[in-house]
Amino acid sequence: MPFTPNRKFKQSPRLIVGSEGVHYDMADGSRVLDGIAGLWCVNAGHRNPRISAALKAQIDVLDYASSFQIGHPAAFTLAQRLSEMAPAGMNHVFFTNSGSESVDTALKIALACHRARGNAGRYRLIGRERAYHGVGFGGISVGGIGRQRSTFGPLLNGVDHLPHTHDLARNAFSRGEPGHGIDKADALESLLALHDPSTVAAVIVEPVAGSTGVLPPPRGYLRRLREICDKHGILLIFDEVITGFGRLGTNFAADLFGVTPDLIATAKGLTNGAVPMGAVLMRDEVHDAFMHGSVSAVELSHGYTYSGHPLACAAALATLDAYTQDGLIAQSAALAPYFEECLHALRGLPGVIDIRNLGLLGGVELEAWASGPGMHAQAVAQHCLDNGLLVRPVGETIALSPPFTLERRHVDQIVDTLHAAIKQTVQPAS
Ligand code: PLP
Repeated sequence: MPFTPNRKFKQSPRLIVGSEGVHYDMADGSRVLDGIAGLWCVNAGHRNPRISAALKAQIDVLDYASSFQIGHPAAFTLAQRLSEMAPAGMNHVFFTNSGSESVDTALKIALACHRARGNAGRYRLIGRERAYHGVGFGGISVGGIGRQRSTFGPLLNGVDHLPHTHDLARNAFSRGEPGHGIDKADALESLLALHDPSTVAAVIVEPVAGSTGVLPPPRGYLRRLREICDKHGILLIFDEVITGFGRLGTNFAADLFGVTPDLIATAKGLTNGAVPMGAVLMRDEVHDAFMHGSVSAVELSHGYTYSGHPLACAAALATLDAYTQDGLIAQSAALAPYFEECLHALRGLPGVIDIRNLGLLGGVELEAWASGPGMHAQAVAQHCLDNGLLVRPVGETIALSPPFTLERRHVDQIVDTLHAAIKQTVQPAS
C-alpha cells in the first residue's frame, strides 16, 4: 500500500465501503465525516450526481480512444473549458493521469521549451524544501522531503532547493497568508548567483504547500519569485494539484495571489477524484515555442496511453459544471471565513503550537512527542476516526481539506471532534 505501514495495517485494517456527500461509510458500520476530501480531491462531495451520471452515460458511448495522432471531441471541449477557467493567457493544456505525471510533464515541457527556443544550456530545476510534488523521478528530485529522496538514491542532476517558508517564531497562528517571510524568496537570487542564472530552466513551487503541513506562502512571496524568474528568463511552475479548482475559493491559487505562472500542474479536483486525471496548463508563449518547423513533425515527444481518456474527460466536464454552474467554488469561498474562525478556536489547547489556514485548507500543528516524529498527529487522527471524523496527519500537523459541500454544522463537528481528540491524546512536554 502507498505510504502505509503495511504490517500495521494488516493488524487493524481500516476499510471504506461506501460514500455519500461529505461522508464515508466504514466496514464496521460507522459513518465518518470526510475532513480531507478523500485525499484532497473530492471537492464536489462524494458520488456527486452530476459526475456519476456523466460517467454512466459515457461508458455506453465511447470507452477508450487514443490521443496519439487521433482524438475525440470531449478532450478538446475540456481543454477549452480549462483554458477559460485558467488565468488569462494560459490557453493550452496537456492531459495526464495524476499529479505526479502532471509535475513531471510540466518539468519536461519547461526543459523542452528552452531547447525549442535554442537554449539547451538551461537545464537546472529549482524546487523547495518541504515540497511534495508526487512520486515521479522529476517530482521527488525537485521535492523537498528527505525520506522520499534518500530512499531511492541519486536523483536528477542539476536540481537545487529554495528554503521552505515555515517560520513558527515569526508567524505562528497567522490567519491566511503569514506576514513575515517575503525575504525567503530572495534566496532564489542567491541560488542563481551560485549557479549562473542562464543555466536555470524552471522554478517549481506549491503555492500553498499541502502534504508537508499546509503552509500558506508569506505575503508577497510568490510575486517576488515571479519577478526574479522574469528578470532571468526562468519559467515559473505552480503545482496546483491541491490548490487548483476552488480549494482556496478561486479557480486557481494563481488567481488568489494575482501571480500567473508559466505552467500549472493540476490533478485531484479536476475529476473530483472519480477517475484518475491530471492536466498541465501553460501559457501561450510556452506552447508556441514548439510550433515551428515542419507541420508533419511531432512537436513534443511525450504522452500517456490514457492522456485525455474519455471517461476522465466526462468526469472532468461534469466536475467543472459542479464547480461553476452549481456554484461550488463560490460555496468554498463563502465558507472559508467560518472555517478559519472555528479552526483558530483550537488555539490554547495543550500542545497546539500553530494553526494555519487559507480557503478550505487548514493545518493544526502539534508539539513533537518524545516517543517519535508525528506521533501526536497520528494519535489525534486515530482518535478522530474512532469518533467519526477522517483527518490527515502530515508530519506534526493535522491537515484539513474538506469537500466544498460542507455545511457549518460539519465545520462545528470537525472542530469539536478535534478539540476532544487533542485534549485526550496530546501529552505536552511542559
Ligand atoms: N503535487 C502535489 C502538490 C500533491 O499534493 C500531490 C498529491 O498529493 C501530487 C503532486 C501527486 O499527485 P498524485 O498522487 O495524483 O500523483
